[in-house]
Amino acid sequence: MHTADCIFCKIVTGEIPCAKLYEDGQVLAFLDIAPVAPGHALVIPKLHCADLFDLPDALGAALLAAQKLVGRAVMTALGATGLNVQQNNGVSAGQVVFHAHVHLIPRRDGDGLAL
Ligand code: C5P
Repeated sequence: MHTADCIFCKIVTGEIPCAKLYEDGQVLAFLDIAPVAPGHALVIPKLHCADLFDLPDALGAALLAAQKLVGRAVMTALGATGLNVQQNNGVSAGQVVFHAHVHLIPRRDGDGLAL
């Protein structure tokens, strides 16, 4: 089910475009519109869940599988040697979009990112 005022639900339905990396029946992955590093990607459930605590466990397994698939692919494509997996829950933790999502951030030695 999609929520009318949720920007990621609009990306799922195609109402808002994205640079899509991966899609299956349950999960969508796309490049972050404001990347902190080249290849910064987001993996989201298609079902609207506000955050980690709202995410059904079975869907969490699909989300994890997609993180591994997309994370490996992005690292290979960019020649990255590491990957940060970040997930923010709540305003205090830096969550801005209240549709659960996981950040995949490719890393390289000496890239200077402080995450
Ligand atoms: O974890 P948090 O909620 O802070 O992250 C939301 C992320 O969604 C941001 O990195 C932002 O750049 C990204 N975003 C996006 N496309 C949009 C709106 C937000 O990639 N249309």
